[in-house]
Amino acid sequence: MARTIETKLTEEDKKIEGGLRPQTLKDYIGQSQIKEGLSISIEAAKVRGDALDHVLLYGPPGLGKTTLAGILSNEMGTHLKVTSGPAIEKPAEMAAILNSLQEGDLLFVDEIHRLNRQVEEVLYPAMEDFCIDVLIGKDSSSSTRSVRLPLPHFTLVGATTRAGLLTAPLRDRFGMIYKLQFYTVPELTQIIMGSAKKLGCEVDAGGAKEMARRSRGTPRLANRILKRVRDYALVRYDGVITESIAIEALDLMAVDRMGLDHTDRNIIETIINKFDGGPVGLDTLAAATGEDSGTIEDVYEPYLIMNGLINRTPKGRVATQNAYTHLGLKYPFD
Ligand code: ADP
Repeated sequence: MARTIETKLTEEDKKIEGGLRPQTLKDYIGQSQIKEGLSISIEAAKVRGDALDHVLLYGPPGLGKTTLAGILSNEMGTHLKVTSGPAIEKPAEMAAILNSLQEGDLLFVDEIHRLNRQVEEVLYPAMEDFCIDVLIGKDSSSSTRSVRLPLPHFTLVGATTRAGLLTAPLRDRFGMIYKLQFYTVPELTQIIMGSAKKLGCEVDAGGAKEMARRSRGTPRLANRILKRVRDYALVRYDGVITESIAIEALDLMAVDRMGLDHTDRNIIETIINKFDGGPVGLDTLAAATGEDSGTIEDVYEPYLIMNGLINRTPKGRVATQNAYTHLGLKYPFD
């Protein structure tokens, strides 16, 4: 079976996710503080008759940033335009996108930390003063002038895996900055039950909970696991996902009881076996595991740290006693 935690959005994900995305804040499970903050801002923007403040959403992939952007535009009753940092190469492209917006529209920029500097600079006056500077009269005598063109009041929703990757001038222009948290098992259970209903597959409470436990706190993985386990239940059994069927299918996918997959275990085992439990620097760890350092930092590490399996110290990553226990190894530092 394919790797479960692969973070890139596959075509298959896009197909499943299209139908599973919640459309309103009420249907968006978890992230209660963010929802509360956003619903107050939505209410206030509506009362003022103005666009919502710019919002920056950050956190590991698959936690619901894109979904939230869609919900914000639904709740505000405006259009949503979606793009991403790497997709916009030239300032003129960003200017054209901004120009195409209507009053109150939402512009969602995924991977906003990957915008290049010149493109980012177009955003500064756009976000702050709702205008863009256009250069005119460029000729050999270098008598260039810039004119300010007004833009409609719009809302920029930026998403990034790490807020620390954003430049300060860009970060400072967001009125709201929210960090998405990993989801709890009860929240993921609820998401799985909801998705199962939409997909028309039957899951009992034990089955849903088992899949939730192994979804690494991430709705995208929960939905992906549900789909694979559903296929397994259909082919091997009568289609109903029970706890024991979920356990069997997930064991086959090599996702362990904590939701760790092959790469997670490889990272921990490498720290323990090759670096005596650490500390080991990120780049060295990346080279030793054959993983990209950015992927380790953005995707794997946050969950391992949250579960107390590794620690980040000034000297590098360290495997905790929990990590040894999880892998069934004796902790040598007692
Ligand atoms: P991100 O943009 O952070 O990578 P997405 O918004 O694309 O993540 O979320 C991935 C999928 O997970 C969505 O298609 C949606 O089905 C599901 N999802 C995310 N957050 C929630 C949530 N809070 N409640 C229910 N489903 C969610």
